[in-house]
Amino acid sequence: MNIHEHQAKEILKEFGAPVSNGVVIFSIDEIKKKITQLNSKEYVLKAQIHAGGRGKAGGVKLIKKVEDLEQEAKKMMGKTLVTHQTGPEGKEVKRLYIEEASEISKEFYLSCLIDRETSKIAFITSTEGGMDIEKVASETPNKIQTHKVELKDEGPLKKDEIEKIISIFQLNDEQKKVASNIVNSLYKIIIKKDASLIEINPLIITKSNKLICLDAKMNFDDNAIFRRPEILKLRDLNEEDPAEIEASKHELAYIKLNGSIGCMVNGAGLAMATMDIIKLYGKEPANFLDVGGGATKEKVSAAFKLILSDKNVKGILINIFGGIMRCDVLAQGVLDAAKEINLSVPLVVRLAGTNFKEGKEILDKSNLKILSASDLNDAAKKIVEAIK
Ligand code: ADP
Ligand code: MG
Repeated sequence: MNIHEHQAKEILKEFGAPVSNGVVIFSIDEIKKKITQLNSKEYVLKAQIHAGGRGKAGGVKLIKKVEDLEQEAKKMMGKTLVTHQTGPEGKEVKRLYIEEASEISKEFYLSCLIDRETSKIAFITSTEGGMDIEKVASETPNKIQTHKVELKDEGPLKKDEIEKIISIFQLNDEQKKVASNIVNSLYKIIIKKDASLIEINPLIITKSNKLICLDAKMNFDDNAIFRRPEILKLRDLNEEDPAEIEASKHELAYIKLNGSIGCMVNGAGLAMATMDIIKLYGKEPANFLDVGGGATKEKVSAAFKLILSDKNVKGILINIFGGIMRCDVLAQGVLDAAKEINLSVPLVVRLAGTNFKEGKEILDKSNLKILSASDLNDAAKKIVEAIK
C-alpha cells in the first residue's frame, strides 16, 4: 500500500527525522485558515498523488508571495497530472500540500528497503538527488551506492554501519549527527510500521547547512497491514485502480496490466507461466489474476466480471489446473457471470485435473462460444489467433 507525501512526512516527523512545516488542504477555502499555522515568506505548493515526477509535470510550484497561493492552488486542484509514473491517463489531484519553501544548496538521494534476496535492509544513496534515480542508475551507476545491514530488532544501527551509508554525502560533524538520526528513523519505520520501501528524494542541505527530507515516498507490506491499523487508515482509495479495489473485496489477487488478453488462472506460478506464453505468441496479457485454490463459483464469477470490465480486453484465456479448485465449480462461475454480462469477446478454456469432465460438460452444454484447448501451448495459440 502506498501513502501520500504529506502522510509519509508525518511518520518521518514522529520518528524524529527533519521535515519542513506544511499543511494539507482538500479544498481551496481551507487555505486562509490553515496557512496561519505556517511561518514563511515563500511556499511550495505540492500536488498529492501516489506518483513521483510531479516536479517536472507542474505538480510542484514555488509561490513567492502568499497572496498568489489561492490562485495557484486553484490551477492545481482538480487538475489531471501526467507524470512518467502515472501512465498516460494521469491522476486527478484531490489534495494539495502547502509547505514552507527551503533554499536548497544540495540535493541527495536516500532510500531504504527490504532486500528479499539477502533478507537484509538495504540503504541506497546517491549525491544525484532530486532527479530520476532510474536515469542515474542507468547512465551513471557508479554514482549510486548500496549498503545492506542485518535485520535486528529495533536498531539503532551501529555507528560504523551508518558511517558507510552516509559517507557519500561528505557531511560535516553536525550534519552527520542529523543524517545518522535520519538513517535510524528509516530503519525503525521499516521495522515498526512494516514499511517495505522509504524513499527520500531529495534529501537536501539548505543554504544554512541544515538537512531536511524534502520529499518522501513510503510503501507498506500489504500482508502486514492487518496489524498496522494506523497505516491502513491512511489508504486513499482515489489513488487505486477501481478494479483492484473490487478484486480485494473478493480476495482475488488481481493486477491490471496494459495488454489485450484477459487471463483467469489458479495459482500464481501458473498465472505467470500463462502470461509468459501469451507474450511468446506475440500478445500482451491484460491482467494478472490468480483465483486461488478453493475458489467458489461466486468468486470465479466476480473474477470473470472484473476481466470483462477492462475495455482493453479483446479475448479471454482461462487456464485452470484443478487441484483443490474443481473444474466444475470454475465452469459454473464462468457461466453465471456470462449470463449477467454479454460476452462479446472470444474465450479459450483449458481445464485439467479435478472434475475436468464435469467442467467441460457444463461449458459444452452452455450456448457460450468457447474454444477448448488441450494444453497451455494450444490455449495461447488459439486465443492469439482468435483476436486477430
Ligand atoms: P517529485 O519527486 O514528485 O518531482 P519533489 O517533492 O521531489 O516531487 O519535488 C521536486 C523538486 O521540487 C525537488 O527536487 C526540489 O528541488 C523542489 N522542492 C520540493 N519541495 C520543496 C520545498 N519545500 N522547498 C523548496 N523546493 C522544493
Ligand atoms: Mg522527489
